[in-house]
Amino acid sequence: MVEYPHLFINGAWVPPVDGELVESIDPSTGRPWARVAFGGAGDIDAAVRAARAAFGPWSRRPGHERAALLRKLAVAYEAAAPELARLETTDNGRALRETKADVGGHANSWYWYASLADKNSGRTIPIEDAVLAFTTRKPVGVVGAITPWNVPLMSALWKLGPALAAGCTVVLKPAEHTPVTSLELARLFEQAGFPPGVVNVVPGWGAGGAGESLVAHPGVNKIAFTGEGATARAILRNGAETFKRFTLELGGKAPHVIFADADFDAAMNAATGSAWALCGQSCALGARVLVQRPIYARAVEEFTRRAARVRVGPPLHEATHMGPQAHAEQLAKTLSYIEIGKREGAELVFGGARPGGDALAGGFYVQPTVFASVRNDMRIAREEIFGPVAALIPFDDEDEAVALANDSSYGLTAGVWTQDVGRALRVSSQIEAGMVWVNTYRYIRWSTPYGGVKQSGWGRENGTEALEPYLDVHTTIISKTGKFADPYAT
Ligand code: ADP
Repeated sequence: MVEYPHLFINGAWVPPVDGELVESIDPSTGRPWARVAFGGAGDIDAAVRAARAAFGPWSRRPGHERAALLRKLAVAYEAAAPELARLETTDNGRALRETKADVGGHANSWYWYASLADKNSGRTIPIEDAVLAFTTRKPVGVVGAITPWNVPLMSALWKLGPALAAGCTVVLKPAEHTPVTSLELARLFEQAGFPPGVVNVVPGWGAGGAGESLVAHPGVNKIAFTGEGATARAILRNGAETFKRFTLELGGKAPHVIFADADFDAAMNAATGSAWALCGQSCALGARVLVQRPIYARAVEEFTRRAARVRVGPPLHEATHMGPQAHAEQLAKTLSYIEIGKREGAELVFGGARPGGDALAGGFYVQPTVFASVRNDMRIAREEIFGPVAALIPFDDEDEAVALANDSSYGLTAGVWTQDVGRALRVSSQIEAGMVWVNTYRYIRWSTPYGGVKQSGWGRENGTEALEPYLDVHTTIISKTGKFADPYAT
C-alpha cells in the first residue's frame, strides 16, 4: 500500500484539516493500492486563500518568466513521464501501452503553453484622432480545476497549462477515483520552483465534498471542468451564486461516418481502435459507427474479427491492449447498457460479458463489445456508455449520414471516411461538432482547439484559443487633448 497522506497547499505538504484518508482502488484487482488524503471545505478554503495571495505577484510576473518556469516543469515532466504513466495505469486501469504514448507526449503540451505565456497581447482600436483606445488582457484570477478519472494527467494539463500561461493561479481537485498522479504533478511543480500558492492540489469528493466547496468558494473566479453533463449542471447551479466563469468539457457520442468509397482497412483501423481505446472511457471516441449500406455487413464482420484479437488483461502488462474499466460503478453502468441494447433489439455480435479466467477475477474487466443493427433512436446510440461498446448503424446516402450524425444531444468530435474530396468537405462542414476528423481519427494536438458544441460543453482547450477563457479584456481610452467640454455651459 502506497501512502499519500498530504495535500499540496501554499507550496507545502500538509495533512487535511477536515478531510480524511481514503483508499484508492486498483481496478485490475478491485483491491486498494494507495491511501490518499482527501481535503474538506477547510482545506479548500486554505488552498483558495493561498491561490488568492499568490495571484497578484504571479499575474504581474513578466510572461517570459512564467514561460521559463513552465519550461522547467516540462523538463521535469518529461523525465517523470514513464513513472507517471505507470501510476496512472495503476490508478485508472488504462493499458500501459496507451498511457505511455499519451503521457509521453505531454511535455510537448507544457512547452506549447509555455510559449503562449508572453503572447497575451491586446489590440489598438481606431476611433477618432483625439483618442487612443487599446485593450490589454488580464488573467481572470483564481481557477478551480476539476478533473475526471479517465485521463487525469491530460485533463490537469489542459487546464493548468493555459491558466498558468495566462497568469492565473490554480486549485486542482482531481477525481476521487484517481487522485494519485495529480499529487505527483504537484511534486513536479514544487521541483520546478513555482512560487507557493500558484498551484495547489486538493484531492477529495465531488458532491458534498472538496469539489462542491471549490465551486462555491467566493475566492474562486473560474471553474474549468471536465466530466459528465449531470455534474456540470450541479456545478453551474452552485457557481451561479458567485457568478463563476466556466469552461466545460462534457460528454460525447461521436459519429464515425464511413462511406462505401473509403479506404476500408484504414477506416476499420481507426474505428475499431477508437471503439475500444481507454476501454471505451473517453468522450472523443467514435461510439456511433455509421456505415454505408454496401459495406455494412463487411464492417460488422471486420469489427467482430478484430474484437476477438483484442487482448484484455492486466493493464501494466506491455502486451495488454485493453485494461479494465476504471471503477466498479462504471463497469456496472457498461454492463447495464449492454442489457439495454439487447432489450432494445440491437444484435449483440461480439462480447457483452465479463471475460472469464482466474487472472482477471476481481478486476473490473469487460469484453470488447459489438452491437450491429443499431438504430439511432436506441438508448445505446443516444446515451454515453463510457464502455468498450461499438454501435454499428447503417445508412444509405450522404443526407442520411449527416442527419444521423447530428441527431444527438452531443457535439464533441466526429469522423468522416471517404475518398471523395467534395463529399469530405460537404459532410465535415455540416456535422455539428467542435472537431471533425477526415480520413483520420483522434488526432489531437496541443495546437488545435478541442471542445464541444450542444451538450458537449463550453469553450475550447488546446490551441491559442485555450487562453481565452482565462483572460479578461481590459479597455483603456485615452484622450490626446485632455479637454472635456462643460456639459452645462449652455
Ligand atoms: P464521471 O461521471 O466521469 O465520473 P463526474 O462528472 O462525476 O465524472 O466527475 C468529474 C469530476 O467532478 C470529479 O473530480 C468529481 O469529483 C467532480 N464532481 C462531481 N460532482 C461534483 C459537484 N457536485 N461539484 C463539484 N465537483 C464535482
